[in-house]
Amino acid sequence: MAERRPFGADSDPKLLLGEIARQNKVINALMNRLERNAAGDYRTEFDELQTAVVLKGEVRRRTAALESALRDNELMTRQLRESEFKLLSVVNQPLVGISTSEEGRFTFANQKLADIFGYEVNELIGRDVLTLVAECDRSMVAEQMRQRLSGEVPVAGYTFRGLRKDGVEIDVELHGSVHNPGKKPTAVTIMLDVSQRRQAERRAEELHALLREQSVRDALTGLYNRRYLDVALEEECKRAREAGDVFSIVMCDIDHFKTINDKHGHQVGDDVLAIIAALIGKRCGPSDLAARYGGEEFLVVLPGQASATAAVWANELRKELQAQIMKPQAKAFKMTASFGVASFPEQGCCCNDVISFADRALYAAKRGGRNQVRIAEAPRMPGGVPPSSDPALSVTAGMRR
Ligand code: GH3
Ligand code: MG
Ligand code: MG
Repeated sequence: MAERRPFGADSDPKLLLGEIARQNKVINALMNRLERNAAGDYRTEFDELQTAVVLKGEVRRRTAALESALRDNELMTRQLRESEFKLLSVVNQPLVGISTSEEGRFTFANQKLADIFGYEVNELIGRDVLTLVAECDRSMVAEQMRQRLSGEVPVAGYTFRGLRKDGVEIDVELHGSVHNPGKKPTAVTIMLDVSQRRQAERRAEELHALLREQSVRDALTGLYNRRYLDVALEEECKRAREAGDVFSIVMCDIDHFKTINDKHGHQVGDDVLAIIAALIGKRCGPSDLAARYGGEEFLVVLPGQASATAAVWANELRKELQAQIMKPQAKAFKMTASFGVASFPEQGCCCNDVISFADRALYAAKRGGRNQVRIAEAPRMPGGVPPSSDPALSVTAGMRR
């Protein structure tokens, strides 16, 4: 007789029920036979009677075992259904998109994922996962997927620009893991639409950048403010010292500016400041730095320029300014300015020295009649002879008109 596999808790409940029914039939058949025989010849049927009694006991034991296995099975089935229900309620929650994919194509997607990207769930199954990624991030996401599926990176976490079915781009945050890395890997992925959060972050970043920019700019002229200039000038000193380079500063003060205010009003004065600041800014190269130093004073840092070339630069500006007809608030007039030039390391090895020499050169330009450029002289060395009546200054030839 073929050996029958014992029933266990993992057996199919239908099979168990069938087996119980079959055993009951056998018992009934044997009992019927016994009853029939009881009315006939006891001696000739005695062996069969014994066999039937043994069988009956055996069948009872097996039936009890089967019923117990059936109860276990029902319990397990119930537990399995409950955990299946819990799993489904997790997977189908409305908060995050969940998917699995194999060989770059979706094998499962929950409703939320479909909603995020504007598809039906069944449209996603079998779809290339990269079709949900905007062109700009496709190669990045493909590389991330490759690393995850090969097992190089066990868990992934990054954001990318997603592409909805309607063509609208969204910001997506992705967290993922992988089963069977390297062999027949399945990517398990959670995705969230973080567009609103990213939008708020971008707005905050823009605002920060604006505030940063505003904090270093002069509101009236748009040039750098004094606070920024102080830091930038220190940096420039350090750079020039380390690189063995030179730089110059040009100080500019508008001539008789007070009369503009007095004659035309403060608003016209403001406009003139803005016009002159724009002229200065336009003359600056990308590495030059123009700042509003004080009320109607400006300071320009010219990296890599010695005082002679810086004075030529200042004189060009002076001429341009002199030629300009200012037309603020329907007025029309001309203005001039005076300039003082000093250089590192010619006139000093620290910012304060260079500034104070430029300031003195500017003062000399004012005293000399305004509308001119003066270069500061090299500082008097200890024991040396002063080169002119004012040891800090020399008049640059040809700088007045
Ligand atoms: P100098 O040729 O000697 O430089 O004469 P100045 O009149 O230009 O110099 P002074 O220092 O006597 O006057 C500077 C004026 O600049 C005084 C001040 O009211 C004016 N001023 C400073 N800041 C501003 C500003 O932001 N707007 C306006 N409209 N005027 C300003
Ligand atoms: Mg002035
Ligand atoms: Mg002044």
